[in-house]
Amino acid sequence: MGTKLTSKYSGKCKECDTPYKSGDQIFYDKAKRIACISEMCFKDQGGEITPFQRNRAYDISNTIQSTPKQFTSKYDRPIQASIPDVKISIGIETSSKKLLEFLKAADTLARKVYPDEDTSSQQFGQIRSKLVDQLIALSKK
Ligand SMILES: [Zn+2]
Repeated sequence: MGTKLTSKYSGKCKECDTPYKSGDQIFYDKAKRIACISEMCFKDQGGEITPFQRNRAYDISNTIQSTPKQFTSKYDRPIQASIPDVKISIGIETSSKKLLEFLKAADTLARKVYPDEDTSSQQFGQIRSKLVDQLIALSKK
């Protein structure tokens, strides 16, 4: 879901690099991480303008306020994990190493099949992750 709104922050479009400043009308899709002044660029990136809904519009402006770094870097995603301090057995460590091999193979494969895809994009990550699953499935046969 996306919308046209008044940006509270300045930033630039990750696709066409067009800068926008606080107060500018931008097209914004939180889920797809798209923010651009140009409606065409927004749509080219797969953005969709959701018909106006009072509550939703409120939520979106609220979200932007609480996550101002949202558009500045696509690597800057808030993700938190709490990993307990446990000893890893040899068996699992072997599996881990295997998984890294699968990951490496999937990455190589994804780069080969999608040479024009931005390798740091979420989409590329999803493709790679899917390939890992498939490689593991194939290796079981
Ligand atoms: Zn753009």
